[in-house]
This record gives sequence, C-alpha cells and structure tokens, in this order.
Amino acid sequence: MVGLGHNPAMIDNNLPPGLAALEFDNSFVRDLPGDPHSGSERRQIRNALYSRINPVQAPRPQLLAWSKELAGELGLTDSDVEDPAFAQTFAGNRLLPGMDPYASCYGGHQFGNWAGQLGDGRAINLGEVMLADGGRSTLQLKGAGPTPYSRTADGFAVLRSSLREFLCSEAMHHLGVPTTRALSLVTTGESVVRDMLYDGHPAPEPGAVVCRVAPSFTRFGHFQMLAARQENDLLQQFVDYTVRADFPHLLKTAVPGSAALTLALFAEVCDRTAQMVVHWMRVGFVHGVMNTDNMSVLGLTIDYGPYGWLEDYDPDWTPNTTDAGGRRYRFGYQPAVAQWNLLQLANALHTIVPDVPALEGLLKNFEITYTQLWHQTMAAKLGLTLSADEADLELFQKLDRILQLTETDMTLFYRQLAELSPSQAETGTDLLAPLLEAYYQPEMLTAEVRVEIQAWLESYLKRCSRDAGDLNTRRTRMNSVNPLYVPRNYLAQLAIDKAEQGDPAALEELLDVLRRPYDQQPGKASFAARRPEWARSKVGCSQLSCSS
Ligand code: AMP
Ligand code: MG
Repeated sequence: MVGLGHNPAMIDNNLPPGLAALEFDNSFVRDLPGDPHSGSERRQIRNALYSRINPVQAPRPQLLAWSKELAGELGLTDSDVEDPAFAQTFAGNRLLPGMDPYASCYGGHQFGNWAGQLGDGRAINLGEVMLADGGRSTLQLKGAGPTPYSRTADGFAVLRSSLREFLCSEAMHHLGVPTTRALSLVTTGESVVRDMLYDGHPAPEPGAVVCRVAPSFTRFGHFQMLAARQENDLLQQFVDYTVRADFPHLLKTAVPGSAALTLALFAEVCDRTAQMVVHWMRVGFVHGVMNTDNMSVLGLTIDYGPYGWLEDYDPDWTPNTTDAGGRRYRFGYQPAVAQWNLLQLANALHTIVPDVPALEGLLKNFEITYTQLWHQTMAAKLGLTLSADEADLELFQKLDRILQLTETDMTLFYRQLAELSPSQAETGTDLLAPLLEAYYQPEMLTAEVRVEIQAWLESYLKRCSRDAGDLNTRRTRMNSVNPLYVPRNYLAQLAIDKAEQGDPAALEELLDVLRRPYDQQPGKASFAARRPEWARSKVGCSQLSCSS
C-alpha cells in the first residue's frame, strides 16, 4: 500500500484528447529490477534500481507556466494544457493511463566525497512517453512528495527554486545547450518551510512542482551505486539497458555484455560531457553543484539548483554559498570537475571492465576533445576561422586576462565586440568607447587598463582582417554563438518576486525574450542590460544556498 498522504493511483479516464493520446512504454521499470517494498519509508535498497512511489496530493494545483514548444513535441495543444486535468496531472494528483510512478536509486560524490545512497529524493518519474519520431521522453515530477530516498528532507520544492529550474532549462534549450527540459510549473497550494539563508529563520514558502522531461534521467551516480554495492551483474545489466534505451547506435559496434560495449558507452559519455561543458563556458553558465549524482550520462545539464550566470567575467565565481569556502564548482574549474566526475564513473565501470589503460585513454581523450572544442568555440565567439596556431591561442589567453582587468560583463562584451570593424584599428580610434556598456565600474578603467585593452582589441582586429568575409558576416557568426539575452540572476529573481504574489506575467515575458536569445528584440533592451547595482549582493541575485 502507498504511504500516508500519497495518492492512491487515481487513473483518470476523463481527459482532453492530447493527454488521452499519450502512449507510455515504461522500459526502466519493465527491464530492471525494483525494490519489493513500497511507500516512502526511508530505506537502503539492494539489487534494485528503483522503488515504486506515487506523488502526494496537492490541495490546489494551479498552472503558473508551461513550455509551448515542449508541449507541442509531446503532441499537446493549448487546449489540452488549459484543461484542469493538465494541472492536476502535473501536480501529481492524477495518473494518466499507462503511468507507473517510481523513484530511482543512485549514489554520488558530493563535493569530492563519496556520499553513499542518494536517489530521487524529490523526483518521481511518471513514465516514458513514446514520441512520433520513435524516441521517448521520461516525464518526471520534481517536488511532488517524499520517496524512500528523501533521507531527512521532505520531498517538496518551493516556488522560487522551481521557477528557476523551469526558466533556466527552457532558456538553455533555446541557447542550444544540451539540457533536461521543463514542461510545466504548477503551484500546489501547500506551503513548504525552508530556512533560505541557513541562519535559523525557517519560514513557509509557496510549494511548486516542475515536470521535467528528458529521454532519460540516468546519472553517473546510478552506475557508482551499483559498483559500490558490488552488484556487478546488475551493473552489467544496467550498462546494457542504458545502451539499449539511450545509445542504441552503439549496438552496431559491440554486443551486450561485452567490455567493448561498456567502453564505447564511456567514450560517448566523455564526448557528450565535453560538449555540454563547452556550451556552459560559451554562454557563462555556472552549474553550482557538479556532484556526480548531478551528471547525466546523456550529457544534459541536469538538476538546476544554486546555478548562476556570469555577469562580470570571473573564472573564480560560484553562486553557491554552500561552496563559498572551497569554490570547487567555480566557473573556470567546470571542465576539470567534469573530468574528475568522469574518473569516478570510470572507477565504477572498472568493476566490470578491468581494462585500466583503455579507461585511462578515454579520460585523456576527454581533455583533448574538450580543448579542441574550446578552441573552436573561442574562434566562433570571436568570429574567426580557426587556424589553431600559437598566435590564435595566445589571443584567446590574453582575452581571458583582459576580461578580468576590471569587472566586465561577458555577455555584453562579446556582443559589442562584434560591432568593431578592422578599419577602426587602422585609424587609431579609441576602440574601448563602443564597449563601455560592458563595464560595471567605468571609473576603474585606468589609463594602464585602457592601454592593455586597446592593445588587445588592435591585435584582435588585425587578426580579423586576415580572414575573408566582411563585417556583416563576422557579426552574424559571432551573434549566433554569443547570446544577447541570458537568464541573468536578478531577472529570474524579479520574476520570482512577482510569481510569489500570484502574478506570472513577468515570468512569461522573460521566457518569451529568452526564446530567441541571439536576436535583438525591439523594446526588450532592459533584458539585455548589465546587472543593476542594487542586485550586486542581494540574496537570490548573486548568492544562492542549496535550500530549495
Ligand atoms: P541535489 O544535489 O540538490 O541535486 O540533491 C542531492 C540529494 O538530495 C538528491 O538525492 C536529492 O533528491 C535530495 N534532495 C534535495 N532536496 C530534497 C528535498 N527537499 N527532499 C528530499 N530530498 C531532497
Ligand atoms: Mg541532484
């Protein structure tokens, strides 16, 4: 029987057509062993990858926001979404025919230390929807109540963190960054108590549920947990399942159960992780909690918590107050942490593939792949055709220094750089003048700093003139990889403040701008402006705790 307060599986047959047409095929629970016990009583499980659990009833579900594009991909129309059954379903109050809810079990390294069993503590997978193109999407509610993996916490989520996850996952998608998606943001009508600053002042906040969507939510930590428990047969079974479900093309090169297949899987996870992190660095995203349980094998950005967006370019910046001491997850260290996390995954896979040199070789490849991708990305950001010669690499390195001389808004800097023309360098123009918008403290642009920046800009423009193509071509190329609009931390906070008063209009407008992050949009200049001074040290705008 389900635990107290949990929804007895209420199958709803009175549904709008789009919801009624969703077809589920739940391979995770069908193909893998589950925990024989049910209910949310906290427990360690053995020889199993999940526990069945139903969401808790929300007293007054209200749909606050939803992703039109994602709904469309699932075959849902506006009227399907506006039907009350949608909010009921994605608050966790109703199960659609074919849903089979469960929480999965994984472990992980948190801040460098093995933490043992973690699992979906406040995520409940509803099922896998079959898509028209033959793919599948797992629907997962975040914040719909406790599971066996909730440990000492409650399984719920507050509106501010749910809105941040909803907004950022969709923004990342539109930016072209691999990510889990968010279908809906529903307020539950229940309050959730949180000590936001961890300073002994717990307070009730509105509760919310996000429906996350991804082909799968498999994390490095799923493999680590099985290896740590020495459940090697199940680890092999899970590797084979993962390949079947998420990487079926690998079956063309190796057979299930073989070391070659596991190595092929690891190689692809390394590649995808490199691509994901390069995108983060390109747009200025700081994940904030790169624990191995927050790393998707599909190379999707997952688990949006105390993440942040670089405003002034500072490779040492992290938004996460919980990490303020060690800054393990600071912006500039993300590629190194990704490799460390891959090493932990390799350690787990090593229990079934004892070929150390092969695993080490793939880890080394990650570094090579990452570096190549990064150089290509830097060239694209600067609108250059990469030659990868020493001079180009030096240009990139010097830029990294230039951006740190004084507080420089990374997003605005690259956009304005695209406006400079090589002819300006020849006439001895003050090249900094058009870039001033990007500087948080223009008074810190001392004569020496100006000379250094001017010199870099001159060498950059000289380098531009070596490439074929006119100013327009270069600008178009640069503006297609350097966004103008990103979900700046304070913009998200402004949308939260309004949403907490029951008004979703600010969120809707912000999300709408973020749908086309590379295109200048008339009347939307305020969304591209650098962070205002009032937001410099305001909670939620620059610093976030894990409390959510
Ligand atoms: P995170 O690093 O925030 O992704 O979470 C680490 C672990 O804590 C995961 O197992 C989460 O499911 C769990 N967790 C975080 N917040 C809660 C919560 N409010 N209730 C239950 N479990 C949670
Ligand atoms: Mg997590």
